[in-house]
Amino acid sequence: MIYLDYQATTPLAPEVAKAMRPWIDEAFANPHSPSRWGHEAAAAVEVARKQVDKALGFKGGSIAFTGSATEAINWALKGTVEKARARGSGQRNRIVTIATEHAAVLDTCEWLAEQGVDLTVLPVQRDGRLDLDLLARELDDRVLLVAVTMVNNEIGVTQPITGVANMAHDAGALMLCDAVQAFGRMDVCKGPDLVAMSAHKIHGPKGIGALWMRKGHEPAALIHGGGQEQGLRSGTLSPALCVGFGAAAKLAQDRCNRDYDHVEKLWRAAIQALGPGWTINGSTAHRYPGNLNIRREGVDAARLLADLRDIAFSLGSACASGSGRPSHVLRALGLDYRQARSSIRLGFGRYTTEGELIEACHRLARAAVEQEKLDA
Ligand code: PLP
Repeated sequence: MIYLDYQATTPLAPEVAKAMRPWIDEAFANPHSPSRWGHEAAAAVEVARKQVDKALGFKGGSIAFTGSATEAINWALKGTVEKARARGSGQRNRIVTIATEHAAVLDTCEWLAEQGVDLTVLPVQRDGRLDLDLLARELDDRVLLVAVTMVNNEIGVTQPITGVANMAHDAGALMLCDAVQAFGRMDVCKGPDLVAMSAHKIHGPKGIGALWMRKGHEPAALIHGGGQEQGLRSGTLSPALCVGFGAAAKLAQDRCNRDYDHVEKLWRAAIQALGPGWTINGSTAHRYPGNLNIRREGVDAARLLADLRDIAFSLGSACASGSGRPSHVLRALGLDYRQARSSIRLGFGRYTTEGELIEACHRLARAAVEQEKLDA
């Protein structure tokens, strides 16, 4: 099995598994209970929180743990609207986002639109980048929040987050950045007021995410109960998952340059091994190099996936795969249905070897040529 689906999830780092082990095996105390064991668990959670905070490197805010980045994004969007309404600042009732966002952002925004929020979904340019002039024309004193993802999960294209945040602030609005595919892989651009992250994209465990919140801009609570996480997100925390997230964040921070250089080398090797006939979807200049989304005229990507079952790769996004719907991200770039259907995403990272990636690319290229011959 050659695993090339690093945008969907990443393998657990051995260091992370080791750090989590005692909190699974023996140390089962509730971190919110007043016993000595409870205090020890709470202390471990706080160390983890600091590790995530330090890896993000933002000042003037705090981290709350959530069950996933999807939860963090739902909370940021719905809780910010809720807070504005509760404060009577209801004239700011507009959210601006972009067409290539992950479903966690887009579907939540659409749900909010059904609840009366005024929603603007901006198109992107053919390279997947947001045109800041277009954004400037949309920003006024009715905008409450601008939500833009830093690294797109399907095509790896990066957005000018600091520029977007500055423009949002100039208009008196807040900015939410979905940093799921950026955090732990590259520096997250400074400026946003709310930042969503996920552990399982950085060799941490599944089932835990986090929301960084600038002081004073914490969203209203969505989950009520025991008052955990500053009274903003109730529910007993899992020390094992928190410790795993912290360890993964620290490891990613310590290895950041090494991991990035490795991924850049893999990117060049993959392009060379695939050979001619492939087109890269999205900007090649503004991107995270661990995501290679490519298409080839006439290829049926679903058939490639079926022919090469021992290579794990993806058709567009993992979330949309299997739904039969062409990717909304590829359509936003202006690709037609056939081009979207002939696109695949290869995702690689820390544990991918150059040898296995080259082998996979050679086999993909051969399988594509075979298809062409059969269809000719
Ligand atoms: N945002 C982006 C860009 C993602 O890639 C993902 C996961 O695929 C999410 C949000 C959701 O993260 P989680 O799996 O932690 O809910």
